Amino acid sequence: MPELPEVETIRTQLADKLIGRTIVDVDVRLAKMWEGSRDQVLGSRITDVQRRAKIIVLRLDNGKNIVVHLKMTGQLVYGHGTAETISFSQGIPFAGMTLPGKTTHVIFSLDNNAKLFFNDMRQFGWVRVMSNEQLAMSNEKFGPEALGKEFTPEYLAKICANWGRPIKLLLMEQGKIAGIGNIYANEALWCAGISPMKRARELESRKVGELHKCVREVLEKGLKYGGSSAADEAFVNVEGKKGHMQEHFVVYQKQGQPCPRCGKTITVSRLGGRGTFFCPKCQK
Ligand SMILES: [Zn+2]
Repeated sequence: MPELPEVETIRTQLADKLIGRTIVDVDVRLAKMWEGSRDQVLGSRITDVQRRAKIIVLRLDNGKNIVVHLKMTGQLVYGHGTAETISFSQGIPFAGMTLPGKTTHVIFSLDNNAKLFFNDMRQFGWVRVMSNEQLAMSNEKFGPEALGKEFTPEYLAKICANWGRPIKLLLMEQGKIAGIGNIYANEALWCAGISPMKRARELESRKVGELHKCVREVLEKGLKYGGSSAADEAFVNVEGKKGHMQEHFVVYQKQGQPCPRCGKTITVSRLGGRGTFFCPKCQK
């Protein structure tokens, strides 16, 4: 599932390509993936591309917004061309060499003969048209951005003190901290030497400080490598290219391999229904 580094990678590229463009057509090929009226976006100009938590927002000049959640396997891919289909030099996972593919559910046509394709193999993602007011309300449910100014060591200490369940579940709770999912939670906890199962309120303040630093570090690393496209995941950037963070994972999907810090074998268990990878020796 795309997390902050993957969604931010997409946001940066979309901002570069979409700001100032006018939407001339919207083709909704699978009705359940789209919520809102096409008339609310046709002819409008894209003024900004933003991200909140794992959600992408295309802001329009008419007070509306196109809000996209990629969920598990959603993709936003941009291509140029006047033909019915646009070819890509490498295949798009689950979609093929040309778009639209069988997993393409919404196509935006722009005034520069470019198209933005929303693909989603598992169909958990969505595209919604929201007013500015609806967007503001929707954004309220999220905690501070994990790379934002409001996410301070003091803030992390405060939410840890009020959390009696495993720390990993807190890191992934979007209402407390926005943007961290399973991959970066696993990596951050290894970095800080904290067991994913450790109850958050039992963490020493020194460890909370380390965890804060590690959360920032692993997310920045994910951004630096253009997000992660693990073997079983659909993430590609808007050019249809994979990220490289998976080449730099330390614990995620590394069960059976030695811990780079202490040499003990990395193990996997389930926590909150998600694969949880950790070193049983140096993560306490
Ligand atoms: Zn270890």
